[in-house]
Amino acid sequence: MDTLEPGEPEDGPAGLEGSQDATGLAPGFHAHPDVDLGAEDPALVEGRRYCVATKADGERCKALAPRGELACNAHAGRLDPSSGGHALARKRREARERAEREVAARALGTRAVVAAVLEERALEVRKTVEHLLTAAATGDRAAAQSLLPWIDQALGRPTERVESTQTRTVEDVRALDPASLQALVAEGRAARLRAVE
Ligand SMILES: [Zn+2]
Repeated sequence: MDTLEPGEPEDGPAGLEGSQDATGLAPGFHAHPDVDLGAEDPALVEGRRYCVATKADGERCKALAPRGELACNAHAGRLDPSSGGHALARKRREARERAEREVAARALGTRAVVAAVLEERALEVRKTVEHLLTAAATGDRAAAQSLLPWIDQALGRPTERVESTQTRTVEDVRALDPASLQALVAEGRAARLRAVE
C-alpha cells in the first residue's frame, strides 16, 4: 500500500486524488454502482453524505462519509486494526477470561480464591514478606509474628492438600451448602472415631 503521503488534518480537504484512487476507498473496496462518481459530490444522498463503498452484501455502505472524504473510515482503510476491532476483541476476550477465572475460583472455594489472588499479586506478596522480614530482623516482634503464617504457607504447602479436609476455617464452613456441611460433619465424626480406636 502507498503510505508515503504526509498525514492530512482529520477533517481537512483531503485530496480526492488521494492515496488509493479518486474515491479514497481502500484496496479491495469498490464504489456502489448507484454512486455517480462524476457528480460534484458523489457521497451526497438527500442532503447527507454517505460512504460510496459497496458492502460485502452488495448494498451501499450506510456509514456517513467524513467531511472531504467519499468513504467512511472503515472503507477508506483509516481504521487501525490494532486500535479498532482487534482492541475490542482483546477487551472482550480479557473480560471473558476474567469471568471464567471468577467462576472457577468460586467453584473451588474460599481457600482457592485467596490462593488465586495471592498468585495474581505475587509481586505485592513478595514486597509484603520482604517488608515483614526487614522489620522482624530489626527486632519488630509484631512483624515477626505476622511473618509466621507466610512461612507456614510457603514451607507447609506439600501437606496442605492432605490436611485441607480437616482444617477448615470458619469462612470455609460458612460457605458450604447444607449437603457439604453434612458431609463435613460426617467426615469429622469418622475422624474422631478413628482417633478413638
Ligand atoms: Zn463505508
